[in-house]
Amino acid sequence: MRSYDYDLVTIGAGSGGVAASRRAAALGAKVAICEGDRVGGTCVIRGCVPKKLMMYAAQFADAFADAAGYGWTVVPPDFDLTRLVQAKNAETARLEGIYRTMIANAGVTLLEGRATLVDAHTVAVGDRRVSARHILIATGGAPSHPPIDGLELAIDSNQLLDLQEQPRRLLVLGAGYIAVEFAGIFAGFGTEVTMAYRADLPLRGFDTDIRTRLATAMADRGITLAHGFEPEKIERTPNGIRCHAKDGRTVEADAVLNALGRHPNTAGLGLEAAGVEVDARTGAIVVSADSRTSVAHIYAVGDVTGRAALTPVAIAEGRAFAESVFGDTPRVIDHRLIATAVFSQPPIGTIGLSEAAATAAGHAVTVFEADFRPMKHTLAGRAERAYMKLVVDADSDTVLGAHLIGADSGEIIQALAIAITLGATKADLDRTLAVHPTAAEELVLMR
Ligand code: FAD
Ligand code: NDP
Repeated sequence: MRSYDYDLVTIGAGSGGVAASRRAAALGAKVAICEGDRVGGTCVIRGCVPKKLMMYAAQFADAFADAAGYGWTVVPPDFDLTRLVQAKNAETARLEGIYRTMIANAGVTLLEGRATLVDAHTVAVGDRRVSARHILIATGGAPSHPPIDGLELAIDSNQLLDLQEQPRRLLVLGAGYIAVEFAGIFAGFGTEVTMAYRADLPLRGFDTDIRTRLATAMADRGITLAHGFEPEKIERTPNGIRCHAKDGRTVEADAVLNALGRHPNTAGLGLEAAGVEVDARTGAIVVSADSRTSVAHIYAVGDVTGRAALTPVAIAEGRAFAESVFGDTPRVIDHRLIATAVFSQPPIGTIGLSEAAATAAGHAVTVFEADFRPMKHTLAGRAERAYMKLVVDADSDTVLGAHLIGADSGEIIQALAIAITLGATKADLDRTLAVHPTAAEELVLMR
């Protein structure tokens, strides 16, 4: 039998690649992992973690504004983006160090440099070539650049996270996760934010009641929403950067964020040389349920597969791959029920089917709703409301979906996801005693 340098060579030391490599090594495999940028990948270096730190920074604006209603005398607060970015960078550097230590402690060899596939069993990293019995592609994704004239004048989320100077006016193009999160963050910092998007509401695919309430809350927080806005051209002007829509509308700003989606990192990887099939439309690597590509010993996990672009999904796919190939426990990840949070202001938590999707899937649906003003907002004098919706199958009483918008929704949905993953019925929620006074208690009090 042919011998190889490694049992597994992983390309990409991000969420999925690191999780898979560590698990494979723990199961006795000889593993190397290649990384062409910073160890930790999108989530740790330029995604979830720095974004959430910035979100915490932005939320102080609410805390300062609300404090007076609770008896505090508040001096006018001042915000320094440069100091925040420095602190954020120190934290991501610390986490990168932890990732490097974890990789070393697991006995996984780190090969630094951009990797390409030379053939189906050989990976090149710089001048080095290593052979592998199995290869895992976990190269993640990157910001997309749709063909819009002048889009190079816009910055992407990577660059926004490292801005040294706070823009007075920010135009956010798009209305997906990244757009609504950064619109809320920069509005919290005091920047004048316009979010311009081609749909009628933000967050396509989310439950319509969440989308409408998010739009209302963002507008109430001073964000200008330009819906039905299809960007056609971006140009520099004496006063900033101007974006023209196809219908003739224009928005001028000091910085423009391209939040027009992300694409899988497959270009230039040598996938053709190895015979790995790529989806012609999306550029994602085609995989089966067990993350196997069109080449039997080459696997792919995470954003590069175009399934659900979320860190916990990449990690779960990576671990399932390692346990299936190097352990005796073959398993696949169920992608049907994935809880997710959007760290907008206010945040959103969601799992399962929207009302429209449940109906379209043929369910007879009963909807339960709670629409309320959170207690914390009373003394603060804040009008913003919270909303929770349960989509229930009328025949079986099973909860098909839960959709929340309001403070702590990301935390609440995680706990609720356990019940829904276990197949909770509405009756199960009804017989659960409430925790009072909380916002989450509304979930067990809906009638
Ligand atoms: P990545 O983490 O992107 O890792 C891929 C790695 O491969 C990178 O380090 C890259 O440098 C490396 N690489 C690529 N090509 C090569 C090559 N040829 N050779 C060597 N190395 C290579 N998800 C959440 O669940 N919650 C959030 O709050 C959240 N917030 C986000 C905020 C932002 C701004 C962004 C952009 C994403 C966010 N995500 C969030 C998504 C999450 O970051 C990704 O789903 C996750 O990182 C995917 O993991 P991955 O392992 O597939 O890829
Ligand atoms: P999304 O796919 O969420 O949003 C892309 C946005 O760009 C949509 O509003 C889309 O409009 C718009 N768009 C795309 N192409 C064009 C175009 N040519 N012209 C005009 N508008 C366009 O992508 P993001 O980059 O925001 O996020 C990528 C993924 O990263 C997310 O799906 C999520 O999985 C992950 N992520 C997760 C986070 C979290 O868990 N909190 C945070 C950030 C990212 P339309 O809807 O009309 O198609």
